[in-house]
Amino acid sequence: MTDLMHEPALTNPYDGLARYQLYIDGCWVDAKAGNTFTSTNPTTGHVWAEVAEGQAEDIDAAVTAARRAYENGWRDASAAERAAALRRLGDVLARPEVIERLAVHELLDTGKVIRETIGLARAFSTWCYYYAGVAENLRGSTIPVPMEHTFTYTVPGPMGVVAAITPWNSPILLMLWKLCPALAAGNTIVIKPSEVAPVSTLEFAKVIEQAGLPRGVVNVVSGQRDAGAALASHPGVDKVAFTGSTDTGKSVMRAAAENLTRVSLELGGKSPNIIFDDADLELAVNGIISGSFAAGGQMCTAGSRVLVQDSIYDAVLDRLVERVRAIKIGDPFDWASEMGALTWGKQFEAVLGRIETAQSEGARLVIGGGRPEMALNPDGFHIAPTVFADVSSSMEIAREEIFGPVAGLLRFKTEEEAISIANDTPYGLASAVWTTNLGRTHRMVRAIRAGTVWVNCYRRVSYAAPFGGVKASGLGHENGVEVMREYTEEKTVWIDTNREGRDAFKLA
Ligand code: NAD
Repeated sequence: MTDLMHEPALTNPYDGLARYQLYIDGCWVDAKAGNTFTSTNPTTGHVWAEVAEGQAEDIDAAVTAARRAYENGWRDASAAERAAALRRLGDVLARPEVIERLAVHELLDTGKVIRETIGLARAFSTWCYYYAGVAENLRGSTIPVPMEHTFTYTVPGPMGVVAAITPWNSPILLMLWKLCPALAAGNTIVIKPSEVAPVSTLEFAKVIEQAGLPRGVVNVVSGQRDAGAALASHPGVDKVAFTGSTDTGKSVMRAAAENLTRVSLELGGKSPNIIFDDADLELAVNGIISGSFAAGGQMCTAGSRVLVQDSIYDAVLDRLVERVRAIKIGDPFDWASEMGALTWGKQFEAVLGRIETAQSEGARLVIGGGRPEMALNPDGFHIAPTVFADVSSSMEIAREEIFGPVAGLLRFKTEEEAISIANDTPYGLASAVWTTNLGRTHRMVRAIRAGTVWVNCYRRVSYAAPFGGVKASGLGHENGVEVMREYTEEKTVWIDTNREGRDAFKLA
């Protein structure tokens, strides 16, 4: 819980533009073509940073550096050495001044409020420490094959160069979900952050320097979509770990198919947040708030399809509106602010468009629906927390990812109907069920087709628990020890233990 009284006063440290180069092979370099692009501060709507625009040739340089670092040592580093490197990284990430620096950069780049960005930044080191332990415990198995004089076992080994392509909504955390298991397994990595919010990942590269990782093990190339495409299709990449939209995920998979590069995809969602009439309504309304409005609703796991049982529909709506009215939108550096701006202009326009369509399709706007009334910068990308009632499953607002602070309430009568609406989506990322009925809990967990089911809670994630989507929400998992399968290649070893050295399979 954030203790607002004792939190540090933080501000934008830049008078002019922040400037960043690419981080390749342990050096800060300009893009080969010399191009740059800018990042906008969503709170003000003004440019705050200029970063190098990496293109295919810079991606190639980074992949080459990562390959060299892999072959010249990292691949052969012992588990203890890899774990020590991750712990050093964790130690730097745990320093208060580093937490504050990364939180401030992510705030300036994404428009999230300081409460949110510092909360995330305080967790970064825990991913490193966890995967340090995972590196030390990576092991294969011995297999009792049905043959005499034969000893068979498996050994997990690294894959080579990993490409991490990340979105703008939570740049550092989603990058760490890839970097930590990649390094734990002995891979090197090239990271391409989103062109919309590239700065915090470039700032993170300074942490890599401070942690003293060997040069070339971690590389960061900022750039536009073409840089991502160049990375996904690069023949020197052994695995692509992608987080982003479903459409881009398909492009990544197509590009990777050309080289038979392994892929894991964390994609979009349209998660049902289902409230039964036996639920604790106070808790459930909290769950709608955090599921729909945390991070301004810019979450892949947003529970923007709120399914409410008929008999409590009006009671939930009333409580929700009361809570939404109290959400404080304000200066992101103010510790009391609960919601900031959307991350970029295009997203801001897109969300306003979805709100307009919802109204034209007959959903009832209950609160919000446009820019907030309070005095904020007129060029900022702020949208008031918005609630729609009388939403039906066929409306765009119930089908398309919104990625903004908008909750739509649908009505259901029976458990069967709730299940049918919940699964009526191409996505399958997350879901939540609010009920005090144990049998119903188990039935719903089994029936909902999604990678995560939260019961009487929302938005919990941990380094220790696997996270991933099904259907159009993705392929593979992140987090937990389970993810290591996605960053290792398993070798099966057969040893003939016959003393005479005869081949056990010789027929004569
Ligand atoms: P996006 O797909 O537009 O971009 C993601 C990244 O892919 C960016 O770095 C971009 O430059 C790069 N890219 C674009 N075109 C590419 C191509 N052809 N080949 C390779 N890379 C390419 O996504 P976004 O708008 O940045 O992020 C929002 C989306 O991400 C939402 O759909 C959201 O649900 C999803 N998301 C999913 C998760 C998850 O864990 N499932 C988490 C966060 C966000």
